[in-house]
Amino acid sequence: RAKDRGRGITIEFEEEFDRDTKVQAELEEHLRQTLSTGGIGVAYQPLVHASSGAICGVEALARWQRADGTRHGPDMFIPLAERSGLIDILGMQVLEKSLKAAKRWTDITLAINVSPLQLKNPKFVQNVLDALAVAEFDPQRLCIEVTEGVLISDPEQAQRAISGLKDAGIKISLDDYGSGFASIGTLRQFGFDRMKIDRSLILALGNDENGGAVLQATIALANALHIPVTAEGIETEAQAMAVRLCGCDELQGYLFSRPVTEDEITAFYFGEIPAAASGVM
Ligand code: C2E
Ligand code: MG
Ligand code: MG
Ligand code: MG
Repeated sequence: RAKDRGRGITIEFEEEFDRDTKVQAELEEHLRQTLSTGGIGVAYQPLVHASSGAICGVEALARWQRADGTRHGPDMFIPLAERSGLIDILGMQVLEKSLKAAKRWTDITLAINVSPLQLKNPKFVQNVLDALAVAEFDPQRLCIEVTEGVLISDPEQAQRAISGLKDAGIKISLDDYGSGFASIGTLRQFGFDRMKIDRSLILALGNDENGGAVLQATIALANALHIPVTAEGIETEAQAMAVRLCGCDELQGYLFSRPVTEDEITAFYFGEIPAAASGVM
């Protein structure tokens, strides 16, 4: 009888597994559909100067709303796109749309996120340069955000891609800094133009007594290497004050603005509305 029960569990497990696989396959099909009609959306979140609070850049963040209105977050659909070979198309769609939008915001930086898999594509650098040329967008105003993952899994290819981008004048920023294991050697070797402190370090400020010391030491290391630092995930005045004192020169977070639509950033950029009055996206 124990054997029967065992088989029952196996069958149940297999059914659940099949259901999951089916759900995944359906989601992938939905994503493919959205991409085929150029339907991936982009939200924009301002970055502000730590001292003046003036806007100095925007980060483009992918948004996906299915035909039936269902929304999924990037933490779900970016890995889905990576698994199903759709990340290159998705990434290019976000890039092309945001270059077009950011053209009007003439004296600020456009930051976009790039998956490690995109950097591994030997055509990636040329694709970015082509998109810049088509959009007639100044490469100096583009910043590409990469995470540590890329440096660890394939450092040589990453180095080649990063060098190619930097040669064209594009800025490279290390995203989510402090959440992983990047060594001092890595930080120097890749010649990052900027680092973005991970939100977990900001959260640690309020949570444990060493939080402030870790944040301070992390920013001090970047400063010692002459790499400017952005703090992300700033939600309160106290957090803004703390990271300013530690030497961050740019801030990003809900305190200033949530990610919003292209039109809202445009209004914000031209001084028509304060960022805080914008809607959420
Ligand atoms: P990220 O690049 O670290 O982006 C910052 C994330 O933190 C965004 O989440 C943003 O909405 C959120 N955020 C900003 N300020 C605050 C704050 O004050 N409090 C809190 N709680 N959150 C804040 P989002 O848009 O859900 O994106 C999540 C991640 O998905 C991004 O993290 C990035 O790694 C990835 N991602 C988004 N768009 C793209 C894309 O176009 N391509 C690729 N490859 N990855 C993307
Ligand atoms: Mg980012
Ligand atoms: Mg980040
Ligand atoms: Mg992140």
